[in-house]
Amino acid sequence: MSVLSKAYFHDEEAAYAKLEAIIWPNGPVCPHCGGTERIYKMTANAEKRIRMGLHKCGDCRKQFTVKVGTVFESSHVKLNLWFQAVYLMASSKKGISAHQLHRTLGVTYKTAWFMAHRIREAMTVMGMTPMGGEGETVEVDETFIGRVKGAPKKRAYHHKMKVLTLVDRRGEARSVVIKNLQPKTIMPILKANIAKEKYLASGNCCVSIKMEDSPYPVMGGSGIGLQSILSPFIYRPLASDFYDLLGNWHGRVGSRSSTGPRHATARRRETRRRNPMTDISKLVDGYLAIWNEADAKRRRDLVARYWNEDASYIDPIMAGTGHDGIDKMIAGAQAQFPGHVFRQTGKAEMHNDRLRFSWVLMSPEGKDAGIAGSDFAIVAGDGRFAAVTGFLDRVPG
Ligand SMILES: [Zn+2]
Repeated sequence: MSVLSKAYFHDEEAAYAKLEAIIWPNGPVCPHCGGTERIYKMTANAEKRIRMGLHKCGDCRKQFTVKVGTVFESSHVKLNLWFQAVYLMASSKKGISAHQLHRTLGVTYKTAWFMAHRIREAMTVMGMTPMGGEGETVEVDETFIGRVKGAPKKRAYHHKMKVLTLVDRRGEARSVVIKNLQPKTIMPILKANIAKEKYLASGNCCVSIKMEDSPYPVMGGSGIGLQSILSPFIYRPLASDFYDLLGNWHGRVGSRSSTGPRHATARRRETRRRNPMTDISKLVDGYLAIWNEADAKRRRDLVARYWNEDASYIDPIMAGTGHDGIDKMIAGAQAQFPGHVFRQTGKAEMHNDRLRFSWVLMSPEGKDAGIAGSDFAIVAGDGRFAAVTGFLDRVPG
């Protein structure tokens, strides 16, 4: 029997069950409040618009599926097709192209391109490709957690498990449990994980890496307290395991969105009614500013300012509903294209309550990233977006 004949590659419900077993081995966990006690599963019902895999948390009253925090979040491609794509990409040494994915899965080329790109990003976070870009700095530090099995408890760190962590300036982090802090233990890990041209910054680290021992230029004193920010981002390094990829993705520091208090939203709504945004360029500038806002809190505020409560967005790749859904979707796009910026092209047009405009995605180096699109929006009576439909005019071929 071929691996690909497994039910979760062909049946969406089986795929959900598989992903739930991987991500929630001890039962469902609410991604909003962390609750585990009062979660119930809703029965999928297309007529009532109850999506497959939907759960509701009795503690915070919010809904979620197991896709939250995975590469599959905010995508409407069937989960079993995603599984096939992940399997094909993780099991092929050289990786497979978007064209192959397009032909194999029977999805459009644009969809295949985005799936391939997102999976590749996840593979980077998972430690399957070298960290960092050209001229970037990778920091290294060590952490001590737990206790080595059977080791007697002593003072200092000797009995604790030693974890070496590498972080690049985009917040990508990888950790590995190591036997000791000797350079001969550490060097192979650094060599395997960091691209050749990288700089290495050693923090307040008891790992002393001498210039002559390092395959990289070493810089002194790092700024961030790694121990405090890294504990949620411990990955098994160098594991090219299909199941790892299914379960992990949001490894980027600060990629989580935060939500403000309800009364603040109400106050903003009040201000808005008095100043409806009817100016076309203001609407388009505001819209693109949300996609370009890297700060989670400010992005969330902008979403509430420019989109109404029941707003929806859909394009060939992503979909999101309501402030939470749209914010999460945009966070996912930002994680997929770190440092990229959407810029308006051409002239925006509006008649009645309908608005259209076009954009191009620019790389962090300020170059055309090869992706361009046009968005079509319906603007509500209060001057906020009620619905936006995105079209992709161009993706890298
Ligand atoms: Zn909850």
